[in-house]
Amino acid sequence: MEKIKSLLESTPLKATPQRLAILKEISKWGHIDLDSIYKNLSRTFPSMSLATVYKNLHTLKEYGIIKELNIDNLKNKYEIAAQKKHHHLVCKVCGEITDIFLETTEITKQTQNMEHFDVDYCEVFCYGVCEKCKEKGKGN
Ligand SMILES: [Zn+2]
Ligand SMILES: [Zn+2]
Repeated sequence: MEKIKSLLESTPLKATPQRLAILKEISKWGHIDLDSIYKNLSRTFPSMSLATVYKNLHTLKEYGIIKELNIDNLKNKYEIAAQKKHHHLVCKVCGEITDIFLETTEITKQTQNMEHFDVDYCEVFCYGVCEKCKEKGKGN
């Protein structure tokens, strides 16, 4: 919990129990959507509405504490922003997201040559079928 709390230290945001619980939930799952956060926290905070969770996510996003991932055909997911830059493998069947740490120097180089654009970093989403779903014979 101390580590979670420190995420808010560089911001003027108060470390409310709700905010800390939301951040803890995101940190625990790695990537999680609004509905799941709400569902998981509704037992601890029965009076907290979906709109409150959304508002908190929005604020945390604005301060750069969390990142919103917009993924094709899936609900937007949130992750803690203070991580090593990475890319994502997305399973089209079960929606599972896996972090991959890859160098994208090739993309960076190519983009620079094509558009004379200065690239700082690239974020790639790879869509496919995960191992678990393949084993179950789904996604063929
Ligand atoms: Zn899958
Ligand atoms: Zn990630």
